[in-house]
Amino acid sequence: MAEERKQRMTATAAAAKVPKMVRANFTANLKAKEEGRPVAFSFIVNCYDEILRAMDIVPAWAESYSGICAAKHDAGRFLEKAESQNFSRSLCTYATCGLGFEYWRNELGGEMPPNAPWGGIARPDFILGTGQMLCDPRYKWPQAVQHYMRDVPAYIGGFYWPPYDENMDQREVENYYLKYAVEELKGVIAFIEKQTQRKMDWDKLEEVTDLVDRTWDMFIDAYELRKVRPTPMDTGDAMNTMVPLAFMLGTQEAYDFYKDLYDELKDKIERKEGVAEDERYRLLWGAGLPPWFALGDFQYFNSKGAVFPVERTYREAERIDRLHLPKLSDPLERIALRWMRYWTHWYDAARKRKGSIPEVERLIEYIEDYQIDGVVFHKAFSCRTWHSGIVLQAQILKEVYREIPINHNYYKRCGNRYKYQ
Ligand code: SF4
Repeated sequence: MAEERKQRMTATAAAAKVPKMVRANFTANLKAKEEGRPVAFSFIVNCYDEILRAMDIVPAWAESYSGICAAKHDAGRFLEKAESQNFSRSLCTYATCGLGFEYWRNELGGEMPPNAPWGGIARPDFILGTGQMLCDPRYKWPQAVQHYMRDVPAYIGGFYWPPYDENMDQREVENYYLKYAVEELKGVIAFIEKQTQRKMDWDKLEEVTDLVDRTWDMFIDAYELRKVRPTPMDTGDAMNTMVPLAFMLGTQEAYDFYKDLYDELKDKIERKEGVAEDERYRLLWGAGLPPWFALGDFQYFNSKGAVFPVERTYREAERIDRLHLPKLSDPLERIALRWMRYWTHWYDAARKRKGSIPEVERLIEYIEDYQIDGVVFHKAFSCRTWHSGIVLQAQILKEVYREIPINHNYYKRCGNRYKYQ
């Protein structure tokens, strides 16, 4: 996902390390396959990170591979393969690319499609989907892919949290959702135990859960250093530095990465080293995935004195103390409640402001904390989850908050190039 055709100039040394880390993730799943270690297709923000790491399962990140194909300008042929099977272009393009890839691999009798970017993605031993965490393709992508790998079993858990209701405190029903989520997590453990003949190491699961708590804190502590003027890091880099949080959560390497990033940003702040030479406008990347093929465009903004000290996209964590978690001894309850409290974190604020919604409250918090002058919403024809509701959020933001400048943008294909609109 974070690899680009040409190396983009990054503001931080941490972001510059990420393409190699993404590559290492893919080398790891191909190598594990060769060595007969279990490999699972997994999806970003799946709530299984601790379980996978505690059971030594090597994740092969399905969306990440589609992102790599896109960054390499090589997704078109896989999308066309999927279309030849009547998959609609209106599907999530990450899923469509992955389905086209697997259709082709199946056509070749299990061989990797020719010149697959980075040598391809390992054929998994099993697939782990999580419906509603984040989206419905987490149900259907694994099921559709099984057409092309009928011998590969899938576990598709459901993970829900209380929906927002302006007349109800979510804590009144939270326990009910918690019980359900814990049962689903037990289900994924039982499934992996059956597939691998390995037993869960509960002490290790607890250790990994502690490590994830610390990683969330370190991630937020590092990112919040960007509040400083001039900001030492902006969204162009954050689209790389999200990789350890999204794809390496539960590893010491992910924690160390954010600790190094924290130290690096502290040094930059001390030296008053900003992303833009003359920082004049502070923008919030309000929603949407970035154009992976044009991350260098953030430097265009920087050249005009505009920086993005904060973004909603890929900020899938919060400081643990802000979630007000009770003391729980069961690691599965801790994992489930951490996610649930994260997803419902902005509910209380939304109830206090007439006409607001949690996602907008989150934007308002960032606007105020990071001294934001305007909000950019990027509409990409790719992941459906992270782009639905953008127009509504922008409208509500103006209605309930203030007349802050808002820009909606997208990239339009012109021949072989993409133009910013
Ligand atoms: S819609 Fe988004 S989150 Fe869901 S599978 Fe597609 S890329 Fe992943």
